[in-house]
Amino acid sequence: MSVFSKDGMSFKELKKDFPIFAHHQRSGRDLVYLDSAATTQKPQCVIEALTQFYTTTNANINRGLYDIAEAATQQYENARTTVACFINAADPCEIIFTKGATEGINFVAHAWAMEHLKPGNIILLSHAEHHANLLPWQWIAEKTGATLTFIPYDSTTGYLKDPAAYLTPSVKLVAIASDSNVVGQLWQDGQLEAFIEQAHTLGAKVLVDAAQSVVHRPLDVQQLNTDFLVFSGHKMLGPTGIGVLYIKKSLHNQTEPYQRGGSMIHSATYRGASWAQAPAKFEAGTPPIAGAIALASAIEYINKNINFNELHNHEVELCQALIKVLERHQEITIAGNINHIKKHGYMVSFAVKGIHHHDLAAYLGQQGIAVRAGHLCAQPFVASLGFQGLIRVSFGAYNTQRDVEAFSTALEAGINMLATTQHGSVDV
Ligand code: PMP
Repeated sequence: MSVFSKDGMSFKELKKDFPIFAHHQRSGRDLVYLDSAATTQKPQCVIEALTQFYTTTNANINRGLYDIAEAATQQYENARTTVACFINAADPCEIIFTKGATEGINFVAHAWAMEHLKPGNIILLSHAEHHANLLPWQWIAEKTGATLTFIPYDSTTGYLKDPAAYLTPSVKLVAIASDSNVVGQLWQDGQLEAFIEQAHTLGAKVLVDAAQSVVHRPLDVQQLNTDFLVFSGHKMLGPTGIGVLYIKKSLHNQTEPYQRGGSMIHSATYRGASWAQAPAKFEAGTPPIAGAIALASAIEYINKNINFNELHNHEVELCQALIKVLERHQEITIAGNINHIKKHGYMVSFAVKGIHHHDLAAYLGQQGIAVRAGHLCAQPFVASLGFQGLIRVSFGAYNTQRDVEAFSTALEAGINMLATTQHGSVDV
């Protein structure tokens, strides 16, 4: 069993870096946090980066000619470089700070798709998309006359079903998640790269939603050769309110500014304006400066402490232990492909026959166990899997087998209690 982080620290010890766990212990109860797919907890260094910025160098960037303004600008641009290195972007100007994955996708919808799509074009998605990567495209299809086509999810394998078969010359944009927030990894190793290459051969552009995968596996945008990619800082140990949109440099000229305002012009008159070079062109107004700096701190923490191979082994072991617990209960159905989750997983979503997901999640919450329940912002996908709603347990680097044990005890008690009080709101 190998559960060690980069510098030899066990994942159990890693938990000490996240003050929320100690805070809860001090107030008398362990926090069993099993909702990292919604948002991760933050290490002390990220919290300190925020405090440090506001305490020592808070000023607006790109404007002031005084020392703290220069320091703030420098830290913000250093953060851009840190992100660029983390995802192996060719140039820091390809990194655009947003408020999260949702804003990044809406950015591409407004600033690229609205300009380039027309009737007869296809936007290719998958059935497993989060609403963030579905609703903007429904809107774009309505406005441009383009059509949506969906690659199905194959629960017999746990992967998307024959994605390349959906690539035709009419596909002008593929907007696709690397991982689902319901069932996890959707592509086999190397499959997404090959798919993107084929999409390019047919003339399509590709946007990858890496919101879930970014904190679990290394990301290399040059190897993927994607045109656009998005993720959120808060799902990768960073603060809320900061996200990243990667735009390949060769697309900068064919992508409009998403918003117009301060800090993004080359020159302006009363009647018009011309744009500065990217990234300024794409970052109108005051950006989330402290958030970007704290995101860089989260990346430095990951670089220093988390070996992705070891993390994978650790999370897979947690999923395997969890599945063992769930399989003890005949009334539980796990969403997706169990073998796939056992090999590649970091989350497990399930329903309990006869017990409403919200009732069980609320019971678990009362026992100090944090899980997510509902349609998981992927309502069509959850419905296509045959569920009205699910409970999702999702892991991060700081989770341990003790968390699974605590979950197991509470689940047992919750099912016993609710099965006798409920009259069959059935999800399966
Ligand atoms: N895509 C996926 C796959 C997600 O899981 C999420 C968040 N749950 C998003 C996009 C949207 O992220 P955010 O809410 O941080 O913008």
